[in-house]
Amino acid sequence: MSSTQKTKGSRARTGSSPVARVLIVMMMVLAVMMVSARIFQAQLGQLVFERLATERAQQDRMATLAPGLHVAFCGTGSPMPDATRAESCALVVAGENLFVIDSGSGSTTNIALMGLPPDRIKAVFLTHYHSDHIADLGNLALQRWVNGAHQSPLTVIGATGVEQVVAGFNQAYALDQIFRPAHHGEAVVPSAGGGLLASPFELPPRVTAPAKERAVTVYDADGLLVTAMRVDHAPADPAVAYRFEYAGRAVVFSGDLIVSRTPGFEDFARGADLLVVEGLQPEMLGVLEENVIARGDPNLGAIMRDVLDYHTTPEEAADVAQLANASALILNHVVPPLPSRFLEPAFLRDAPSRFDGPVRVARDGMAVLLPQGSDDIRFESWF
Ligand SMILES: [Zn+2]
Ligand SMILES: [Zn+2]
Repeated sequence: MSSTQKTKGSRARTGSSPVARVLIVMMMVLAVMMVSARIFQAQLGQLVFERLATERAQQDRMATLAPGLHVAFCGTGSPMPDATRAESCALVVAGENLFVIDSGSGSTTNIALMGLPPDRIKAVFLTHYHSDHIADLGNLALQRWVNGAHQSPLTVIGATGVEQVVAGFNQAYALDQIFRPAHHGEAVVPSAGGGLLASPFELPPRVTAPAKERAVTVYDADGLLVTAMRVDHAPADPAVAYRFEYAGRAVVFSGDLIVSRTPGFEDFARGADLLVVEGLQPEMLGVLEENVIARGDPNLGAIMRDVLDYHTTPEEAADVAQLANASALILNHVVPPLPSRFLEPAFLRDAPSRFDGPVRVARDGMAVLLPQGSDDIRFESWF
């Protein structure tokens, strides 16, 4: 054995190299930190909580936005259970006002989680009266009411039938609207501000006139113009798409529809900066259908087969976006549920190749900013 080999062997045995000493010290410091964190977890947790609470209380997303028309998604799923998506809900920010388009189950919580103050909600627009578009209306009205001491109910705008939906929610929440003012006092929770107020609009009869003649103005105030067009989602009828125009920008929400039976939708969506269309991927849904039938659940299998005839595929949405010359397309109301973003290309299939602009799959918390005076389209996440 050479003298060099003897020296290396003796260092390895004693562990006295500088690198080894540094590693040992780092491990000891780490161990002390871990033990300390465990011992003082309650005190550290309180400090972290106080910091988070202060940040949350000071958060007002709307105050940070540049002038323009902005969109966010509070629910991008459907009635099919989805751990990452609430049922249908979108938001429009136009100046000082916040508008909600549909109020599916679980979506009100997402509005607050995105840092948007519920008391700023000016009105709700309903596309149609399937449960996954109205289920959270009671909670939405409550959050707006108790956060803002409002003196009038939350306005709900919709085609004929909205009165019936609103009356039902008001009846269900009638006792709650007595309990809250009784507990907190009229100054904090005024009785007059509870519940919902229906604001119905009439649609022209189902005719084959040009889309421009079928669109009706349903809101026109503070620089915001909202028009509605009847779409085919039979037997759910009426069902409408909405077009929001503000600060020179435009966004169109299709609601649920089968676009191939809704002639003129491309005219209604013409030139929109952002087109939001529902998306159902039939091949993926077919896989789920085969599995539920195989496990002995023909009823659910039949429902999955039925929904194919009143929804729109991502490819069809891309085609109509191209025809409409829209600038960007978002696939919303995602069916079937996608448990991972990795699956989004499989969901979109050929859609990106059939539309010249960006195509995205909607996710809860996604926001799209359309600043005034530009063609910019900025995608963000507000979660
Ligand atoms: Zn529907
Ligand atoms: Zn739906």
